Amino acid sequence: MHRPRRRSPHDLDRRGPGLMKLSTDRKTASRVRRAPNGDDKPTAPNAFGLTPGPITAGGSCQVTPFCKSCYAVSTSRRFRAVDTLLSDNLAELLPIVDDADALTDTLRPLVAESIRKQTAQGVAVPLFRWFWAGDLPSAAFGTAVRRLALEFSSCRFWIYTRSLNYVHRLIVPTKPDNLAVYLSVDAWNLEHASQLRDKFGDRVRLAFCAENWTDAAELAARIGETAPRCPELTGQIPLVVYADDHAKFGEGACSRCQLCTNGRGNVAFAVDRTPTAGQTTRREVLVELRRAS
Ligand code: SF4
Repeated sequence: MHRPRRRSPHDLDRRGPGLMKLSTDRKTASRVRRAPNGDDKPTAPNAFGLTPGPITAGGSCQVTPFCKSCYAVSTSRRFRAVDTLLSDNLAELLPIVDDADALTDTLRPLVAESIRKQTAQGVAVPLFRWFWAGDLPSAAFGTAVRRLALEFSSCRFWIYTRSLNYVHRLIVPTKPDNLAVYLSVDAWNLEHASQLRDKFGDRVRLAFCAENWTDAAELAARIGETAPRCPELTGQIPLVVYADDHAKFGEGACSRCQLCTNGRGNVAFAVDRTPTAGQTTRREVLVELRRAS
């Protein structure tokens, strides 16, 4: 029986050099066209991805046990076309993954085309998110990301990464003003991330990732930090923001929020977005402790 292919939330876009492609993502889009059926579409791709998952299993990530909850892995498992796009990107870049010059030259047309499209559509400050899936696969890639931010100064770039041993290449010798660097922090890499935070100060921000909001706040508190909850995950900002019910075009949540795009401060992400998730568990633990004492 023929089954229509399901649409991906990360619709695929458009051929770059070789097989490489960018992705569209409503949350990170600078401009979104409303569709009557609710299938709203970003008008320009502005997100780059590679195969998620451990490097040892053909992915690009330095995973921790937290990564079992990875949305990018589940998205690429559900949508074969997404998996193909991401693995094509990785396959094209692997031969040059340690060559910063070649990476910069290969990625430049993709970035340039995204910015050109956004600008032509009237977007005042184009946005570009590195690694909606996957992660920095090498130190040289970090250099390429930094160089491209310096080159395309009209665009705001942002990245969340667990490739903590490559982070210095994003910000040394100088961190571009238009590149926000977030260390993705969980219970397993907290200490390393904290060391880098001490070393690099505000050149890096921290994205605390946990199963629920309570755990994310506790993670931050363990190293003396605070982090507001991502307002899109809490529902304070919709996935796509429209001026009114009749507006044909809107913008993605990140474009409206600008916390991460501008690197204004730390942020917290939770797998379970319900406001009280985790609190019940903690109360139960306290009850148990009282019973035991
Ligand atoms: S905090 Fe704001 S900028 Fe960051 S991911 Fe959430 S909506 Fe986007």
